[in-house]
Amino acid sequence: MKPVLILLAVFFAVRFLRKSLLARTGTVSAPETQSAPVKGKEGEEMVLDPVCKSYIPLSSALTVKDGGRTEHFCTEACRDKFLASR
Ligand SMILES: [Zn+2]
Repeated sequence: MKPVLILLAVFFAVRFLRKSLLARTGTVSAPETQSAPVKGKEGEEMVLDPVCKSYIPLSSALTVKDGGRTEHFCTEACRDKFLASR
């Protein structure tokens, strides 16, 4: 292997590492805006339970399609309460 190729490889490796480091710190220090959806600790989207007014991670929420919109619930009890009240 030519020394020039080794230098090039090192150059690109350093550039890649620096880029991934910058990307990571960039997301951490990014200011949160008011209109952005509420995010969980792992950056997961949080959804509002309209019955008990609490936020739950989208992945663990129960969903009900109500006409054109989708409602999210923390438990079956909240979902049943919503279905009974509409
Ligand atoms: Zn609930």
